Amino acid sequence: MRKYIFVTGGVMSGLGKGAVTASIAKLLQMSGLKVSSMKIDPYLNVDAGTMNPLVHGEVYVTEDGGECDMDIGTYERFLGINLTRYHNVTTGQVFKAVIEAERRGDYLGECVQIIPHVTDEIKVQIRGIANKDDVDILVVECGGTVGDIEGLSYLEAFRQMRLEEGRGNTLFVHVTWGPVLPVVGEFKTKPTQHSVQELRRIGIQPDIVIVRSKSGMPRDAKRKIALYANVEPRAVFSNPDLETVYGVPLVLEQQGILEVISDYLDLDKLKPSSSSWRSLVSRFKVREPVVRIAMIGKYTKLADSYVSVNHALYHAAAALNVKVDINWIDSEGIERDMSKLNVLKDYDGVVIPGGFGPRGSEGKMAAADYTRRNSIPFLGLCFGFQLAVVSYARDVAGLRDASSAEIDPQTKHPVITLLPEQREMSELGGTMRLGSHEIAIKPDTMAFRIYGSTRIFRRHRHRYEVNPMYIPILEKAGLVFSAYSDNGLRAEILELPDHPFYMATQYHPEFSSRPWAPEPVFLSFLNASYIRSKTERSAIRATST
Ligand code: GLN
Repeated sequence: MRKYIFVTGGVMSGLGKGAVTASIAKLLQMSGLKVSSMKIDPYLNVDAGTMNPLVHGEVYVTEDGGECDMDIGTYERFLGINLTRYHNVTTGQVFKAVIEAERRGDYLGECVQIIPHVTDEIKVQIRGIANKDDVDILVVECGGTVGDIEGLSYLEAFRQMRLEEGRGNTLFVHVTWGPVLPVVGEFKTKPTQHSVQELRRIGIQPDIVIVRSKSGMPRDAKRKIALYANVEPRAVFSNPDLETVYGVPLVLEQQGILEVISDYLDLDKLKPSSSSWRSLVSRFKVREPVVRIAMIGKYTKLADSYVSVNHALYHAAAALNVKVDINWIDSEGIERDMSKLNVLKDYDGVVIPGGFGPRGSEGKMAAADYTRRNSIPFLGLCFGFQLAVVSYARDVAGLRDASSAEIDPQTKHPVITLLPEQREMSELGGTMRLGSHEIAIKPDTMAFRIYGSTRIFRRHRHRYEVNPMYIPILEKAGLVFSAYSDNGLRAEILELPDHPFYMATQYHPEFSSRPWAPEPVFLSFLNASYIRSKTERSAIRATST
């Protein structure tokens, strides 16, 4: 019999429900069970691809080309498994399936309703994943907050599943917030009480309550929550802010969450083998030496906009036993005042991540140029790769008017151009070149030395590419395209031989990085940055003595 754990959220979003979901799944996985996770997003978009990363966080790309919620990335990084587009269910997908079935005549004669038709479809999708992944336990996270109109049909489906699957096969985890009032310093339980009440109103009594707070939760607060939320005191857990998100499974384990889960789900005593995870987590807490990385972009305000890039850097740092300090630099600020580029000298490495549209692109190109001239390690990702090509075309290959067709559709030298198959495309949802594609790496290149292979698979999300017509001119000017996909049709990696580290990829290496296995390009980039940090620092020491 398969079992299901449903994770809901209360009070507000942004409490780390995704990390809690992934952490519970991780503890079960470390206990020898076969687990998987899925995310429900109650919005009407069919997928996250059409949403603004500035508001909603990054769009995470799965192997099969799904444009997913960023929590899918959290699950993959914790569990080390590759999920699919079907692990991220949205209301857009559910409604689409129901309406298509109605048009086919599947419900002939019936009045099609939220209950049972929509809730049935939700259950079909959840059970479908559990069966396909052949899991012992599926952990299902519902996005948003209890009380949202959009989430109602999902909570109703969860409620029905408890009846259908049985008490010992379903578990409800509710994640809330425990604020501390700044003046009196008192830990408040009322928001948790209210959100549990809201959940019970729709027929769900949580089994476990997990309270996010800045620091730990006082004992009396725990007792009070247990009483008002109608859960056992041992089933109330504290989830304080930690140095690293990878520490969450250990914090929950230490408070006895596995005992509660195994009792409620009728499982034998769970004994996780967490020692290797424990030592991994300790490497994420290294405080020095510090490697300083600048990220240049326009989505500088929400840390979640590039969460996978941040994590790929953290993974590389953990492998090198250093701490990475990531600072954002607004590319539009550079455009307004080019002298701002000089701050890049104080960094050990510069990343230009993916992006869209002309805003801030000139600033990013100026930054790419600056790192090239000043021998600062540089990593460009997707749009960052494309802009590095444009800046090289302008600055070195003598194509002064070069641009990307995305930035200037009328440009005289479109060194970056629309992918041919995109020309006839009229819809924008789910139509980019997406997901995993094979990449052939040329021997005798830095890329080959980094990967140790001539063949890799990496994930993509783009509409534009290097214009093949310009490749001979760019190569003649010294730019090396060291990897291609689609039988040599598409440039995938660029590098500069006479530079400490100047590399950019059309694909997104950040989606393939795992805490225990950093993506090789990130590792090499951070290592080059680390070397710069050591030489720069000793240079500073030398001048000061
Ligand atoms: N805007 C660029 C393109 O569509 C790059 C996309 C990206 O960085 N993900 O090709």
